Amino acid sequence: MYPGLDHHLATAVQSYIPSISHRSSTYKKIHQETVEALQTLFGLPEGFHIFFHASATEIWERLIQNCVTRDSFHFVNGSFSKRFYQAAHELQRAAGVLEAPWGEGFVGKVAEIPGEVEMINFTHNETSTGVCTPEPYIHAHKDRFPEALITVDMVSSAPIPVLDWRQVDAAYFSVQKCFGLPAGLGVLILNERCIDKARQRAADGHTLGTYHSFLKQLPKSQAFQTVETPNVLGVYLLGKVAQDMLHRGLSSIRQEVESRAERLYAFFDQHGQWQPFVQHAEERSPTVIVVNIPEGSDPLIARLSEKGFVLGNGYGKMKGKQIRIANFPAIPEEAIDQLLAEMEKLM
Ligand SMILES: *Cc1c(COP(=O)(O)O)cnc(C)c1O
Repeated sequence: MYPGLDHHLATAVQSYIPSISHRSSTYKKIHQETVEALQTLFGLPEGFHIFFHASATEIWERLIQNCVTRDSFHFVNGSFSKRFYQAAHELQRAAGVLEAPWGEGFVGKVAEIPGEVEMINFTHNETSTGVCTPEPYIHAHKDRFPEALITVDMVSSAPIPVLDWRQVDAAYFSVQKCFGLPAGLGVLILNERCIDKARQRAADGHTLGTYHSFLKQLPKSQAFQTVETPNVLGVYLLGKVAQDMLHRGLSSIRQEVESRAERLYAFFDQHGQWQPFVQHAEERSPTVIVVNIPEGSDPLIARLSEKGFVLGNGYGKMKGKQIRIANFPAIPEEAIDQLLAEMEKLM
């Protein structure tokens, strides 16, 4: 949980925020404050909108439903990027893919993408494997595919990535990862090109889905409202944590996360047995550190759990073979010191 969340929760309850009407002026003010804090945090230029969804999983479906008629293209290097690709198929779009083996990324690889492709989808931080797709790699695609919409899943890294909003049309995250908040809110940042594409699709007679059509969300968001009854408490808490992050300073948050990541990777690089899963330094995630545990990770996770450390297990097919360490902004420096000291004892 992000430091200070207890205080924000208590204030929310004292102010009756969990029971206010989502059509009230109190809600509109909360919505506006949260959107403005996020605009500042992400350095959004004019022409970008912020829509609230239930989760990142919902956002995958909405991006396809609103903005893709024929085909999307997906950079897949683990379970999450793959699920987006599969969702496009389930929605009966012709989805193309460049798939990297687990633990690897795309740097140095050129994807064969059809020139007319409507949407190209990147996952900045593949949480299942700890592979990061560096921002310059993502940005380089705008020049090659000026007509395509470029989207970035930054669910388990926002607000760490430094995105150039001239090269990206949509990016999204869920609050339960780096923001250290209770789950139940997905945030989509999107520009006018995405809205225009939805307009064009609607004009051509295509369905955009029902309540979370971008064309229904746009006028609501401009009035600091939502189409449905939203997660009011989640919107409030997100605004508070985004403000706290702004006070702390985004560049210091980035520096802290990066320097802790370096320490963690250096520790495992020097370890004889427990090696980082991701080989290429520039593709190593700053926020999700994945380490191979050849003797099996379950006993290690259990032992560290007795000491109060919650480590992730390997994801999917890597369960029992790896640990995943969340190096999120919510985690205090001391926790990383203590974790490394405890691991040293176990070596
Ligand atoms: C967690 C995660 C998701 C899914 O987020 P939900 O909020 O569970 O829908 C998508 N992409 C990545 C990279 C994730 O880590």
